[in-house]
Amino acid sequence: MKTLRLICLPLILLSACRVSQTSENSADKAPQVTRPKAQPSPQAKGKKERPNIVFIFSDDHSYEAISAYGGRLSKVAPTPNLDRIAKEGIRFDNCFVTNALCGPSRAVIQTGKHSHLNGFMENEHRFDGSQQTFPKLLQKGGYQTAVIGKWHLGTDPQGYDFWNVLPGQGTYYAPDFRTPQGLVAGTPGEYVTEAVVSKSIDWLEKDRDKDKPFMLMVQHKAPHRFWLPPVHLLDEYVAKDYPEPKNLFDDYNGRGTPAQTQDMTLRVTMDLALDNKMVPFRQDRMNEAQKKKWNEVYDRIRAEVLEKRPQGDDLVRWKYQRYMADYLACIKSLDESVGTMLDYLDESGLAENTVVIYASDQGFFLGEHGWFDKRFMYEESLRTPLLVRWPGVANPGRVNKDMVSNLDFAQTFLDLAGLEQPSDMQGESLKPLFEGKKPSDWRESVYYHYYCFPEYHAVRRHDGARNSRYKLMHFYDLNEWELYDLQKDPMEMKSVHADSAYAETFEHMKGELSKLRRQYEVTPVPRLRKGETLFPPWREFGTFEIGLPDEGWTSLFDGKSLEGWRQPFASKPGGPVSQITEPTGIEVVDGEIHLSPAPQVFYLHTLDFTDFILELEAFMPGKDFDSGIGFRCVLPKGKNLPAGYQSEISDVRSGGIYDIGVGWMNPVEEEVKINAFIDRTGTFYKPKAWNQIRVACKGSRIRTWINGQLCSDLKDSKHKVGTIGLQHHAKEGLYRFRKIRIREI
Ligand code: CA
Repeated sequence: MKTLRLICLPLILLSACRVSQTSENSADKAPQVTRPKAQPSPQAKGKKERPNIVFIFSDDHSYEAISAYGGRLSKVAPTPNLDRIAKEGIRFDNCFVTNALCGPSRAVIQTGKHSHLNGFMENEHRFDGSQQTFPKLLQKGGYQTAVIGKWHLGTDPQGYDFWNVLPGQGTYYAPDFRTPQGLVAGTPGEYVTEAVVSKSIDWLEKDRDKDKPFMLMVQHKAPHRFWLPPVHLLDEYVAKDYPEPKNLFDDYNGRGTPAQTQDMTLRVTMDLALDNKMVPFRQDRMNEAQKKKWNEVYDRIRAEVLEKRPQGDDLVRWKYQRYMADYLACIKSLDESVGTMLDYLDESGLAENTVVIYASDQGFFLGEHGWFDKRFMYEESLRTPLLVRWPGVANPGRVNKDMVSNLDFAQTFLDLAGLEQPSDMQGESLKPLFEGKKPSDWRESVYYHYYCFPEYHAVRRHDGARNSRYKLMHFYDLNEWELYDLQKDPMEMKSVHADSAYAETFEHMKGELSKLRRQYEVTPVPRLRKGETLFPPWREFGTFEIGLPDEGWTSLFDGKSLEGWRQPFASKPGGPVSQITEPTGIEVVDGEIHLSPAPQVFYLHTLDFTDFILELEAFMPGKDFDSGIGFRCVLPKGKNLPAGYQSEISDVRSGGIYDIGVGWMNPVEEEVKINAFIDRTGTFYKPKAWNQIRVACKGSRIRTWINGQLCSDLKDSKHKVGTIGLQHHAKEGLYRFRKIRIREI
């Protein structure tokens, strides 16, 4: 599993290369689903029978990207077909997921049970399809069931009369499908969203038993990373200017360790090559016309960015615009496919007795907090869109603000079909809410639990409770709490758990969380995974410069000589510190600086810096290593130990900060603080591997990162200016350093 992220690119390349030479050469235009002439079903003509259900389900679709929700993107990227469902039915504003991750969300929907009971807590798990699921109960109750599109539960679908699903995440172009008969190769020229809706309509039209009511799940993948849009939308979406969220440049003050140490920022994590498509990739799944259009658009963007070379905040803004162009074009294709389905339901006469439900497996960050991805219990990923149309039952144009959840879907489907809801399902049927009859004892809060750490994006495990106003999150491995007053702080910028004005609320929400844990029979969490975070060390640190010139950076090591480095002692007693004339314990080997144990353990560079970002890579032996990167260092006369700060590299405290010759600044010398620091950073540094180290000093603020994860963030102004140093401070072992560069800020 550790290698999964690493093989993302090859997977894309490989999965892109199975299309044969027979590819048609027409670029995809506005989607044209091959639609046989619609035949009204017997049901539509007869008396009102049990309703059909069309569940259109999407992936990583933020409510912010549906114009019916009226968010900041609604004008620039409208979704008229999704809006039509809301306009002709109900828009739910408080629909939450129990675990904001693709597979777990889907397993909750199948079973109506939280992750800890259905057994699918993480994407790497395989769904136990032998357990009770709603489609099996629907089948028993006389419904036809079908699932088409993204499945993502590992094992074959069970309980479906018909299934035709994407293997894993599926591919965007000419997607293959898994069926009970085996893999069906993709159709050249076809785009995934259109393929899914086309197969869905084919089933409705040709393959189902028209004497039975049906439940059809139309499951899209397109909004999921890496957001490859259909080419007919590229020009339009690339040309738009997308409003930024107010907290695009969030500095995570006011939040705890998890927000500060995640790895899902546009700034660092979002990859220029893959996410922003600035490196050409193999496109064997596209036909010639698609390739031509694709390359025309992205080659132009690539040329522009290489000319403008945005850096820092400008680069974050640029990435945001690129991200939105691709993501929202994928949403647009999805919206078009929803239009195709709604039209078909109208033309076939099915619309009248069919409940259409639109939802996503969870929300997604669209630059809010500077992030993409999901996982956190913060609003953008916790909340998911839910739109429901039920002609003749649900009054059109309603907005519902009750607390509902993907936990409720299974029972809702059963209730719509007039079937019994098993007592071990944990949700509530939403049917009364569709009918405008809210039960008096409707829930006041929802329970959330995310389980994956260490894992991609380095989001800490947590559970929590949210009611209509407050949200409590518990990062139990760190024993950190966060509490938000969503009325006063809807963007969740400052946790008030330690604010005395919220002491009562904090206690109340803790009680609520305990109650929910009991109610849902939450079981003890699995042991924290051992080992490394899986992400981000797959790419060079400072990735936001990948593919761009090293402008603004000064290399402190040319890979060949020790020019610019000085020995930490005077060439003669009382004399000036000099360039290295007789290297002892330091040498250049294959583009690396090697340090070995020697009396003089601290080598310094000659240039001084005040405010800067320093980046380098270090390779340490397996254990018992003790090294560090000095910064703002000066060498007092006659001494061989500098004064200044040091970012530690050692078995246990990597990323900590030491005041050289004085003592620890982070973690300070208290057992509880040291343990807390190790708990948090213990997996960041990998022995016997190259690790990226970053130090940033600006005024009195000092920060260190190991492999992209923030380790220290403190204020101190004792040492204001000085140089960089490399240390060997152990009895044995070879310490290796390379790619040492610095940039003044
Ligand atoms: Ca998802």
